[in-house]
Amino acid sequence: MSRVLTTTEAINEARRCLNCAKPTCRNGCPIENDIPQFIRALSEGNVGNAYEIISEHSNLPAICGRVCPHERQCESHCVLTKNKHGIEIGSLEMFVADFAHENSLKPIPPSTGKRGKVAVIGSGPAGLTVAGDLAKMNFAVTIFEGQSEPGGVLLFGIPEFRLSKDVVRREITELTDLGVEIKTNMLIGPDFTVDQLFDQGYDAIFMGTGTSLPRTLDIPGKELTGILTATYFLRMVVLADSGKLDNSETLLHTGDNVIVVGAGNVAMDAARTAVRRGAKNVTVVYHKTEAEISCFPSEYEEAIKEGINFNFLKKPLAYLNKKQIRALKNIRQQPSEQDDTVLAGLLVQNITKTADGEFVADGGQEYLPCDCVILAIGQRPAARIVSTTKGIEVDDKGFVITKERPYGMTTRAGVFSSGDVVHGPATVVLAMKESKKVAAGIAQYIDAKKLLEDCEQ
Ligand code: SF4
Repeated sequence: MSRVLTTTEAINEARRCLNCAKPTCRNGCPIENDIPQFIRALSEGNVGNAYEIISEHSNLPAICGRVCPHERQCESHCVLTKNKHGIEIGSLEMFVADFAHENSLKPIPPSTGKRGKVAVIGSGPAGLTVAGDLAKMNFAVTIFEGQSEPGGVLLFGIPEFRLSKDVVRREITELTDLGVEIKTNMLIGPDFTVDQLFDQGYDAIFMGTGTSLPRTLDIPGKELTGILTATYFLRMVVLADSGKLDNSETLLHTGDNVIVVGAGNVAMDAARTAVRRGAKNVTVVYHKTEAEISCFPSEYEEAIKEGINFNFLKKPLAYLNKKQIRALKNIRQQPSEQDDTVLAGLLVQNITKTADGEFVADGGQEYLPCDCVILAIGQRPAARIVSTTKGIEVDDKGFVITKERPYGMTTRAGVFSSGDVVHGPATVVLAMKESKKVAAGIAQYIDAKKLLEDCEQ
């Protein structure tokens, strides 16, 4: 976890760097930030130069400094980590980005917009990365965002305690300073189509629409009140925190017993947010063992520190209403109107891990009392672009198919894609990594297209 450093602490930390001839830290950075060079500039007290070096590769350093899993990436590759005291690269990145913002450092001039015109649909990490990289290459870029505010998962998916909304807004402002235009409340499908964008003169279109449809469980009782998806819950909390919704609309009440199904990063975010919203008990239910959880180790540790319980090797079988729970407990009581409609428990199947590593039902079942179940079992793309645009093929799970040349182009010429809508939900920095390659593919495509047009004249 990155920590806030004073200027003296940051420079002293940077001075510990060995400036290795073969800097292994760089191998661990998905976007190949020039880590030794920015640390060297920082160690000399030249924060402006450090920011300039970071900005060559990253459009979102203040965000990456906070949410990248540095402990599994650059920091784990630092040679000093073997001696248990590796360089705190994430904290240094965060320090440099924050210093640059506070001092209005703008090392890269705004785009001239002369190289071509690109529409970017979606403003999550993929869309912002493509927009920033293309603006730096002097393309005119317009982002179309369906929500009232840009940021996608950065704003509505990652909770405030992990990533401040002010930091997201600030980083987006840095992109608009590069000349990127942002149009909000513009939803692909209802408000415009890909064909209309081409008619408006865009040379290429990038789809970074993410995976907005959460997966749910098709089990008995799914219609009961009290079952939420994690993405919906996290989004409602952001809106409630910003005063745009009443707190009651987050559908979680103070004193609730909450079960979160799933053990990825979104599950940890939902569980930790439920604690902060006043839940009495929060239990993560997962159908495999602790060894198989997919969240970052640091997120798991934080969740445990915050008192979240983990119930491994349980698979949900049915949501139970109040009447069913009373029957199970053998309680006789006058039924109320809500007894059939309100969630009161989750029936789970006990699972065993065999010596071969397989997970099998062991015949045992139990019920876990709860007032609210939050599902964090994955997401899939919405079909809004594909259903309104001819020629874009998807695989059997709805993920967009893209090509190697030009990198990231879909089966429709001039339409590119990357991020979760292509690869499935991943970390911010992995979405950035692919999107940087796609931005280069878009530049190649537009240059070639214009060259051909010139030759035909
Ligand atoms: Fe510095 Fe560690 Fe990278 Fe070496 S591996 S250059 S010590 S950050």
